[in-house]
Amino acid sequence: MPRSPRRVTLRAMAAPCAPTDVLVVGGGPAGLGLAAELAAHGLSVRLVAPHPPRPFPATYGAWLDELPSWAHACLANVWTDVRAYTGERPTPLLRPYARLDNARLLDTLLGRAGGGLAWTVGTVQGAVRVGEGWEVRGQGGETWRASLVVDAGGHTGSLTRPQQRGGAALQTAFGLVAHFDVPPAPPGGMVWMDYRSPAAGPATSPTFLYAMHLGGTRYLVEETSLVARPGLSRAVLERRLLARLRAQGTPPCEVEAEEWVAFPMNAAAPCPGPVLAFGAAAGLVHPVSGFQVAGALGDAPGVAQAVAAALDSSGPEVAVRAGWAALWPPERRAAREVALLGVDALLTLPPAQLPAFFDAFFGLPAAEWHAFLAPRTGAGTLARTMLRLFAHAPNPVRASLVRAALAHGGTSGRALLAAVRE
Ligand SMILES: Cc1cc2nc3c(=O)[nH]c(=O)nc-3n(C[C@H](O)[C@H](O)[C@H](O)COP(=O)(O)OP(=O)(O)OC[C@H]3O[C@@H](n4cnc5c(N)ncnc54)[C@H](O)[C@@H]3O)c2cc1C
Repeated sequence: MPRSPRRVTLRAMAAPCAPTDVLVVGGGPAGLGLAAELAAHGLSVRLVAPHPPRPFPATYGAWLDELPSWAHACLANVWTDVRAYTGERPTPLLRPYARLDNARLLDTLLGRAGGGLAWTVGTVQGAVRVGEGWEVRGQGGETWRASLVVDAGGHTGSLTRPQQRGGAALQTAFGLVAHFDVPPAPPGGMVWMDYRSPAAGPATSPTFLYAMHLGGTRYLVEETSLVARPGLSRAVLERRLLARLRAQGTPPCEVEAEEWVAFPMNAAAPCPGPVLAFGAAAGLVHPVSGFQVAGALGDAPGVAQAVAAALDSSGPEVAVRAGWAALWPPERRAAREVALLGVDALLTLPPAQLPAFFDAFFGLPAAEWHAFLAPRTGAGTLARTMLRLFAHAPNPVRASLVRAALAHGGTSGRALLAAVRE
């Protein structure tokens, strides 16, 4: 009789102290995604998280074409009517967008892991080297031994600390899942970005609506600040969302749930250390879109393959180095420098120019803006896209982009020019 993935996992929890090849800190999509791939390579893996396996609590959206094919079985919605409003008329984005079914994603990842994964409920407090391996301590006094440790503890990390140049620049959003008598977004579709709204607040910090039709009269509506330092507060975004919905004549009737989004967008490429990091803890959030989940699911097999092969042939230290090299090769580091220039530009841009910036962005050939938002695009392609965007943008936007390029003593500008020459 086939065993359910959950039963396999809970059975594996029966041996709480057995040493494992790998200990993964964190039960988010990145931690479980990598743990599953490592286990599928035959490694014994312990995943430690403060909670038992449970559907990931956040709403995860992704471009359909960026998700690995197996994840297409884990989708709650796919929209082909995907729009951006940078002015009164919609720009059709002509690119299917999906919402993940988090319960199915969890079960699928647990199923991919099979019997090699032990999920242990606990909170990791520290880790020390013992011989060739690690002793990991839990807050409850537990000790777990493993040859190799991965930090997938999310945006703040657990054993490692993601760094942001100039301090964290945050994406924040306040959302509601609610029923509506009058649709707040096109029925059957989703709005990726709507910068229209007289009610969206003072022009010093513009926000946009991100909205999805979930079926029937249910919609997710989120007032979003793409990136700001300091980030916009929950109270401000909630006020703006309700004002926007009122102003467009679509107040919510019955609210089912609220969602608060807050995470840094400008993590630098991390320095490889003795603990491997993955997911948001490894700085993998895309600096311009804020996406991470599809990229992490796509990265996991290559990182797991590199770690498993090196662990088998050369031991844990080489395996950690192999994991870092697979995750953050030099080309990706160079690309991050260029992408951070994009964040600097967005932070420098006078707020009233944001819609014009995105108008020029979505006016680029589709392949270019798709690549700009993709997790693994090289520095040269990113830089050339930014220069093309510069050429198409109106003059005030160009002036802001130049100021961003000249910031940090010209480091960013030099990174851009070096990338273009590649
Ligand atoms: C509300 C919200 C919505 C988002 N929407 C999207 C989206 O639509 N698309 C997208 O691509 N990205 C989105 N993001 C950004 C990002 O992809 C998510 O934050 C994603 O959850 C990060 O995945 P992760 O596995 O790296 O970390 P997390 O999901 O944050 O998981 C971290 C895990 O580590 C555990 N942990 C932390 N510290 C310890 C410790 N010391 N010991 C043990 N366990 C520990 C946590 O309990 C948790 O299980 C969103 C973020 C938020 C906050």
